[in-house]
Amino acid sequence: MRREAAGKTRLNCPCGEYIRGTDEADLIAKTQAHLAEFHPGHDYTPDEILFIAY
Ligand SMILES: [Zn+2]
Repeated sequence: MRREAAGKTRLNCPCGEYIRGTDEADLIAKTQAHLAEFHPGHDYTPDEILFIAY
């Protein structure tokens, strides 16, 4: 069953990586970890991450 109340939990990175979290906080953490590993220098704030998440 979907938990819409959890907010946005998916994000497609422009590089093609599909990132999914259990909730917004988890998605943000995973996205920031992905950015740190694959896109050094591209730091996004949680607000920016949620803006492109869905
Ligand atoms: Zn990426």
